[in-house]
Amino acid sequence: MLTRDRLIGWGLSVPSNCVLCAGHDENRQHLFFDCSFSNQIWMFFTSRMQLTPPQGFDEVLRWLKDPSRDKNVILIIRLIHQAVLYLVWKERNKRIHTAESSLQSKKISFSLF
Ligand SMILES: [Zn+2]
Repeated sequence: MLTRDRLIGWGLSVPSNCVLCAGHDENRQHLFFDCSFSNQIWMFFTSRMQLTPPQGFDEVLRWLKDPSRDKNVILIIRLIHQAVLYLVWKERNKRIHTAESSLQSKKISFSLF
């Protein structure tokens, strides 16, 4: 994913800040896990499933190979992971390209379940 740290690394002149929280520079780890916005989404799902997944991007990818003994739970966890990445990336792009914010934590909890 072309996060701002990668674009800057290629010499493009783009702002470095995270558009979701504006408090940190945007990189893969921050955008999908460390950002307060993303963290709220992860906590919404993981707390309901009583999961404590790792926090690092690479660690999560390794964890997703075998997160449970139950095949149905594994499928749900993998779907949640993909959904969260998609939601965060979609919201990030919407804020960059339209200067609008569509997701609030309350809306997330009601619109997904
Ligand atoms: Zn952020």
